Amino acid sequence: MIQVTDLVTLPAELVGQPGHVSRHCTRHGEPAARYRDFKLQSSVKLEGSRWWSANVLTMSSDAGDYAKKVKVAEVTGWPLCSRCLRMRARWMVVAAVLFYGGLLAVASPFVAAIFVDVPGWMAGVGAAGFVALPVSAWPFSRGSIPRVIGARTSADGAFVVVRSPSSEFVSGLPDGEWHRGGSGP
Ligand SMILES: [Zn+2]
Repeated sequence: MIQVTDLVTLPAELVGQPGHVSRHCTRHGEPAARYRDFKLQSSVKLEGSRWWSANVLTMSSDAGDYAKKVKVAEVTGWPLCSRCLRMRARWMVVAAVLFYGGLLAVASPFVAAIFVDVPGWMAGVGAAGFVALPVSAWPFSRGSIPRVIGARTSADGAFVVVRSPSSEFVSGLPDGEWHRGGSGP
């Protein structure tokens, strides 16, 4: 269970402006190697796997309802240190291997069938691919910027909430613009 005191809350307006966050990353407290701009979503409680639910929902007729619940904050110039970048890259490589390897494995029995009588074990390769494809969602999520930096947007979209940030990140924040705890002031 996350203690509310481990949360640092920043106004979304602040993080939308360049150079207003901190020069040290949230996770390791190391100097930023790169400043990134991205959109940060609020978390929405969904049944089952959030990543898959979110993707299935956006394709369904509930897309409108889902979009209304999710608040997005524009983040400008967020610090990522070289360790953050490496961590993100590693998860993305794992996700890509599982995803493209999975696609290849699923397709291979069908492609092989064009040319030869497919041996029985090829069905196993195809089945493994079917498993690898959804599993690739997990490293993909772990390597996403919100997971790497440990931040999300508050339910009302007015704040960005960072979970257990480094003391270096916190000390680099502008005075009086942030507070500890999960909800807005
Ligand atoms: Zn870092």
